[in-house]
Amino acid sequence: MQDHTIYLDHAATTALDARVLDAMLPYFTTEYGNASSIYTLGRHAMQAIDSAREQVADFLNCRPTEISFTGCGSESDNLAIKGIAFASQKKGNHIITTPIEHHAVLHTCQYLERFGFKTTYVPVDRYASVDPDDVGRAITDQTILVSVMYANNEVGTIEPVAEIGRICRAKKIPFHIDAVQAGGSLPIDVAALNADLLSLSAHKFYGPKGVGILYVRQGMRLLPQLQGGSQERGRRAGTENVAGIVGAATALRLAYEELPLVQPRIVALRDRLIDGLLPIPGSQLTGHPTSRLANNASFCFEGVEGESILLNLDLLGVAASTGSACTSGSVDPSHVLLAMGLPPEVAHGSLRLTLGKENTAADVNVLLTAVPTIIEKLRGLRA
Ligand SMILES: *Cc1c(COP(=O)(O)O)cnc(C)c1O
Repeated sequence: MQDHTIYLDHAATTALDARVLDAMLPYFTTEYGNASSIYTLGRHAMQAIDSAREQVADFLNCRPTEISFTGCGSESDNLAIKGIAFASQKKGNHIITTPIEHHAVLHTCQYLERFGFKTTYVPVDRYASVDPDDVGRAITDQTILVSVMYANNEVGTIEPVAEIGRICRAKKIPFHIDAVQAGGSLPIDVAALNADLLSLSAHKFYGPKGVGILYVRQGMRLLPQLQGGSQERGRRAGTENVAGIVGAATALRLAYEELPLVQPRIVALRDRLIDGLLPIPGSQLTGHPTSRLANNASFCFEGVEGESILLNLDLLGVAASTGSACTSGSVDPSHVLLAMGLPPEVAHGSLRLTLGKENTAADVNVLLTAVPTIIEKLRGLRA
């Protein structure tokens, strides 16, 4: 056994930063008040939430009243899409998205189809890039929402969301951005992005699991999807996760404070992975060659199963993925790779390596030796 895991699955989740844990701890122990209670202990909790909301709003360049805390990135996506859809039924029933979205978006749109909504999936090119003009052309007088991700969680392609937002704004169509994978990595200024709604999730940037953020631009009509108390200004019932909210705000601040230091190092490691693994025969980089997330090195290798690569890497103490966490463990090739036009037999051989701030050059060296050997071995078994 290895003495430590080489963790290369930061797109799936990240380890909680110790400083984030420190900021959270008091709200598990001494500061346990319910933020809705009027006595001092309750007010402390409310002050912590207010201050976290102000910090997040500051980073996103919006008003604190436009920020809601939710239970995860998936909930933020659900609330944005269902909330707008069910509030807009008198205006129309048409939603525009893409085939490469996270299942939190795709399955929400499919669910809405049971209630009479129709979805258009704007196609992507072989790099998984969306053409903003295709989005513009898909808009009809029935369109009530456009939802496009900022960066793809499987192949790392960064989408032209600001331009898509500009087109939507001109036609007065609400625009939702799933920025969950971009959070902590790309600048997130909701005004510059022309976003009306934007989702984030703390566990993707060294914050706690189980805390989502949803930006909702002032004036957007949104139907709450969880009924109960009037927390989050009536948008989302339920006693607030004070520790989690404090953790999310702290993690967001730290991630962007440290980005100028961390990002160049991660880019260099990513490029060493790409340059080192592409010489493997029958290999290709998936996702956009330049417009891609700093930490994403994803590939397809012909003639091997991605799952077999993962099992062999696991024996060496390396944690990696074939793509989305939802795809791993199922035999279907990734919907993202298929939408990019990859043949199913090639898409089956996917490997996603996503770096984080704790990775080192030594970690990359292990991969540069291990992956070619594993692929050669697996191909030998087939021949
Ligand atoms: C991880 C992820 C989600 C889901 O976030 P959770 O907090 O895990 O529910 C949604 N969209 C994208 C792009 C993601 O990467």
